[in-house]
Amino acid sequence: MLQDLYKKIVIEHAKSKRNYRKLEGDNVRKVHYKNPTCGDVITLYLQLEGEKAVDISFEGEGCSISMASSSMMTELLKNKELEEISTLRNEFEHLIRKGVQLNEDIDLEDALSLQGVHRLRARHNCALMAWQALDKLLAGK
Ligand code: ZN
Repeated sequence: MLQDLYKKIVIEHAKSKRNYRKLEGDNVRKVHYKNPTCGDVITLYLQLEGEKAVDISFEGEGCSISMASSSMMTELLKNKELEEISTLRNEFEHLIRKGVQLNEDIDLEDALSLQGVHRLRARHNCALMAWQALDKLLAGK
């Protein structure tokens, strides 16, 4: 069952978070963000070289969905250009809000397994927290 597989991937990311560490250095930006609906918190770190996200990491605490989503996002965005990051961001939000992809040719990798969160309206902000933190971080450019 696809749903069972998705559930396993989410649990696995929540348990062993990818890129869960501080980043330091001259080109590192960081932002602190809080999901008001669930109490999840994240500190997101991004290291840019020109238009490329050469490193991205996070620290935080929260429910399984928020932590899994943060972990998946960092994996997905590492070594991507800002333009592609913007496309992936819109694609992921569409998946959560509408339950389907806008463009199925775009590979959301493990983040696709959060599709089921669409049906849990109260949890949309949990899945989107890391991405909203990213918006805030990039807006501070
Ligand atoms: Zn949450």
